[in-house]
Amino acid sequence: MIHIDTLTFNPFQENTYIVYDDAGACMIVDPGCYEAYEQQELVDLIAKKNLTVKLLVNTHGHIDHVLGNYFVKETYKVPFYVYYQDVATMHAVASYAGNYGFPKYTAATPDKLLQETDTVEVGTMKFDLLFVPGHAPGHIAFINTKEKICLSGDVLFRKSVGRPDLPGGNEETLIRSIKEKLFLLEDDTVVYPGHGPTTTIGFEKKHNPYCAL
Ligand SMILES: [Zn+2]
Repeated sequence: MIHIDTLTFNPFQENTYIVYDDAGACMIVDPGCYEAYEQQELVDLIAKKNLTVKLLVNTHGHIDHVLGNYFVKETYKVPFYVYYQDVATMHAVASYAGNYGFPKYTAATPDKLLQETDTVEVGTMKFDLLFVPGHAPGHIAFINTKEKICLSGDVLFRKSVGRPDLPGGNEETLIRSIKEKLFLLEDDTVVYPGHGPTTTIGFEKKHNPYCAL
């Protein structure tokens, strides 16, 4: 069974997901920890739950999702995977991190560039990838259809959607990603977004003001 804990970090209130199986094999998705006390919070949770961190992944390369990449990669000596089309988004962060109030930001080097046909496996967990551009040009979601889990990053939120006005974003593309990809998942699939509370595909199909069917 897949377990998911959430820590919310940085002034953007970004959700960092700690995803693990029954044996404690763990994947960290979008670590947004920047300050030392935030890093400590993540370390404490992993120690308390007795998890073994095996992999670091990003849904996309925006600053609030990547602030903790270097820390996680160095602390746990784990490989770091990103989607090949969002590497440029991630590389751009170093150029604006100082202006956003994160002068200590250090970029992590990816160990593997993911393709949409790849699967990500950690312990007994297996995730398929969905390429869902529109908020970021190389945005992906991590999907487990058996346990009905969708780590959606900043594409779909409870009653909202990601901003399409950032570099590489496009509103039409974003809505198409949601309707033609995420909405094909079963209605009771739980969506774990990059910001705010969890939701379900069925709820958003009915109630989302931007993309309800
Ligand atoms: Zn974003």
